[in-house]
Amino acid sequence: VRLCRFNDNRFGVVQGHLVRDVTAVLDALPAFRYPLPLGDALIAALPELRERIAARTQSAPAVAVSGLRFLSPVANPSKIVGAPVNYNKHLAEVASDPNLHHQNVAHTLPIRQIGFFLKAASSVVGPSEGVVIRHPDRRTDHEVELAVVIGQRANLVKREEAMSFVAGYCIGLDITVRGTEDRSLRKSIDTYTVLGPWLVTADELPDPSALDLSISVNGEPRQRANTRELILPVPELIEFATSFYTLLPGDVILTGTPEGVGPIAPGDTMRAEIEGIGEMDVAVKGGS
Ligand code: MN
Repeated sequence: VRLCRFNDNRFGVVQGHLVRDVTAVLDALPAFRYPLPLGDALIAALPELRERIAARTQSAPAVAVSGLRFLSPVANPSKIVGAPVNYNKHLAEVASDPNLHHQNVAHTLPIRQIGFFLKAASSVVGPSEGVVIRHPDRRTDHEVELAVVIGQRANLVKREEAMSFVAGYCIGLDITVRGTEDRSLRKSIDTYTVLGPWLVTADELPDPSALDLSISVNGEPRQRANTRELILPVPELIEFATSFYTLLPGDVILTGTPEGVGPIAPGDTMRAEIEGIGEMDVAVKGGS
């Protein structure tokens, strides 16, 4: 199924051009007392909620997708794990362009040597909220990526069993201000992680290993690739990440971006698309 969060934190099931509003299902979530557990309570409870969601869907009020404001399908990830260079052509592009690597050798190493970076969870928005450019004097780039949402606590997971820890997938934009600073700073700016437009659960998309992905800016094609070109595919990414730390329900792995990164500016509209998930328009705005 395709699950979305929309408008004023409504919860819905996407069916073609309609969204069925099943917000009432959220009443079944546990009432927490301080300290709340890390991670996303809805993603953690999804296995138990799936029957309730299915039972309510057909009788739930339907609203048209076209008029809705989509929020991130994950409200409370404890961390956003980023794969820095996980497509060979993007690695070559970064290594050959001083505007991308800024003389930092750590920006030109393949993923097995450089590992992951973390993005602040506070950087996450949905497509309707848009990207707000923080440093208009500096170059800011789009990066379109397959985003993997973890469904259950995952620690020291082997690649052979890794897919059973995936709740589903969405489109991810890993927006990046270029410069000499560490990735975790440059990519953690408010609104610089866009997740959407909805979560496609792993039972609907069992194999993420050969999906077309693309992004255009104002109708101009920028990046186009297929996830079969990933240096480390999804199971290896989960194995690698959980060899260092525990992934929690709602944690997101941004699997890396292909070649063709390029600048964005206020007034632009990005359109990102991933096969089997959908597409989303994201506005680029000026700072306030
Ligand atoms: Mn990236």
